[in-house]
Amino acid sequence: MIEDLHWLGIRWQEGPDCGGPYGPYSQSERREHYLEAWRRLRDGGFIYPCTCSRKDLAQAAGAPNDHDDEPIYPGHCRVRTDVAQFADPAGVNWRFRVQDGEAIGFSDLKLGPQRYTAGRDFGDFLVWRRDDVPAYQLAVVTDDAAMRITEVVRGSDLLKSTARQRLLIRALGFDTPDYLHCELVRNSLGVRLAKRNEALSIRSLRERGIAAERVRET
Ligand SMILES: [Zn+2]
Repeated sequence: MIEDLHWLGIRWQEGPDCGGPYGPYSQSERREHYLEAWRRLRDGGFIYPCTCSRKDLAQAAGAPNDHDDEPIYPGHCRVRTDVAQFADPAGVNWRFRVQDGEAIGFSDLKLGPQRYTAGRDFGDFLVWRRDDVPAYQLAVVTDDAAMRITEVVRGSDLLKSTARQRLLIRALGFDTPDYLHCELVRNSLGVRLAKRNEALSIRSLRERGIAAERVRET
C-alpha cells in the first residue's frame, strides 16, 4: 500500500516508513498503548469478558443486522462480575457494554448529520479478541488519540464504526476528532470494489501503464 500511495504521488510527513514524533506507527509495535486503554476500560466498568463461542452467537443472534457487520451481541455475558480478576485480556473476548436505546449523533464533514441507536444499529462490540489482539475499534481510537489526530478521513462503510468509536472515546476520556466519510469507489454496475476486483487494484492499473494522474482524478 505504501508503494502504491507513493506511485500515486501522495506524500506524508509521518508513518511506518519515515517515522515521526508519535511513533511507532505499526500497530504490531503499539501493544502497550492498547493494553493501557484496555485497563482503563476494565477499571471503569465499560467492558466485560465474553466466553460465548461463535456457535453460541450464531444460534442466538439469527441473521446479522447488516451484511458486512458484526451481529448484535445477544447479551449473555453482560452480567458477569469477574472483570477485576483479569490482570490481562488474553484468553477471552472483551466487549464494550453499550446502553440500549442511546442515540449517538454526529455531523460528518461531507455527509452531514448522522444518527445511530445503540442496541439496535449495533450491540456490545469487541474491543479485544480472545487470541490476544486488540479489535479494530479499540486500536484506531487509541492510535488517533495518541497521535493527536484531529480529522479522520475514510470510507463511508465505516460510518457505523464511528458511532461505536465515539462511545469508546467518551469512555476513555479522549478528545473526539472530526470525521469525513467518502463515498466508496464502485464498478460500472454500482457494486463496491473488493479485493476480488483485482483488475481494478492500483497495482494492476499501474502495471497496465495507466498514469497515476488519471487514477487520482478518477
Ligand atoms: Zn458472551
